Amino acid sequence: MTAVNLGIPTTRPAPEPLAPRRQTRQLNVGGVLVGGGAPVSVQSMTTTKTADIGATLQQIAELTATGCQIVRVACPTQDDADALPVIAKKSQIPVIADIHFQPKYVFAAIEAGCAAVRVNPGNIKKFDDKVGEIAAAAKAAGTPIRIGVNAGSLDKRLLAKHGKATPEALVESALWEASLFEEHDFRDIKISVKHNDPVVMVKAYRLLSEQCDYPLHLGVTEAGPAFQGTIKSAAAFGALLSEGIGDTIRVSLSAPPVEEVKVGNQILESLGLKERGLEIVSCPSCGRAQVDVYTLAEQVTAGLEGLPVPLRVAVMGCVVNGPGEAREADLGVASGNGKGQIFVKGEVIRTVPESQIVETLIEEAVRLADEMGAELPEELRELAGPVVQVH
Ligand code: SF4
Repeated sequence: MTAVNLGIPTTRPAPEPLAPRRQTRQLNVGGVLVGGGAPVSVQSMTTTKTADIGATLQQIAELTATGCQIVRVACPTQDDADALPVIAKKSQIPVIADIHFQPKYVFAAIEAGCAAVRVNPGNIKKFDDKVGEIAAAAKAAGTPIRIGVNAGSLDKRLLAKHGKATPEALVESALWEASLFEEHDFRDIKISVKHNDPVVMVKAYRLLSEQCDYPLHLGVTEAGPAFQGTIKSAAAFGALLSEGIGDTIRVSLSAPPVEEVKVGNQILESLGLKERGLEIVSCPSCGRAQVDVYTLAEQVTAGLEGLPVPLRVAVMGCVVNGPGEAREADLGVASGNGKGQIFVKGEVIRTVPESQIVETLIEEAVRLADEMGAELPEELRELAGPVVQVH
């Protein structure tokens, strides 16, 4: 038997993006660059009480492990503000404090060493009067500010002027607040103008991107439960990112925040804005299918969860299109007649009974990952054996 050099790259570069990225100012958010051509980053927000330091840090650790690059924590009370120094220090990723209503917590967050502070001008009391002080404190500490305008809490003056949260109203609110910071020579700003309707949201960000060069944080607010929120976010972010608009993203789902991070990363990978990781290519099945493709694809996906390599794994239901796709992938199966032909990098390495397709694919994927030098999760490590060989 001869060992095969599989020639699988250890990274899978993203394809050329659909459009050049819009040129924006660059911010340093606790070591993560945002804007100015930096890779689009993925954010999420904890759902724990921030004052519960242990639970919050635990959730941040889970988010970090899922690929979250910046995390935001809510700070509605003094107890939450008191927890910020420890959380900012111990978190593995930059922490942004999310402040509503009380300007005093903005100062507390800056003092606590948070990587940035998000303010919502629409509902911070007497915010405009405080901008000078906030700008001075943020500048002294090198802390960027996100001006986060939300349709649901739009400044009352603008609501009265525009009648509702139109794209123009959202943009006017954001730029008005930005201009107050600019008066104090503070420009370490990023902006979001979120709306729950993807169409309004897309129009607002387009308008905003024409009128300023601040980096933009994309979000569809209150996007809904996981399925609906994923679709809304993918549609809206896809429209904007494919025009080069957007520097950091947060998917909002009524679901655990790790799901937001998974969706966010997947959107970026799909658009070629991020190196692709593990990718399952499975056929939709049809009348020609000779196996239960749905179950097979689900089992393979579940079995390979957490495999940290850019493998393309094809799960195909028959021998019509199956071999072609399976051959194109790094690893694949074309099923038929109760058997599965297993392909590795275009070569059939073996044919196994249908009952062994899933375990064989997982075994081979883990071996490939091991050969690529990947750090395997404990539960997959024992499956790693010698390098794949031709049988
Ligand atoms: S690979 Fe075969 S089973 Fe799957 S959709 Fe194509 S023709 Fe149908």
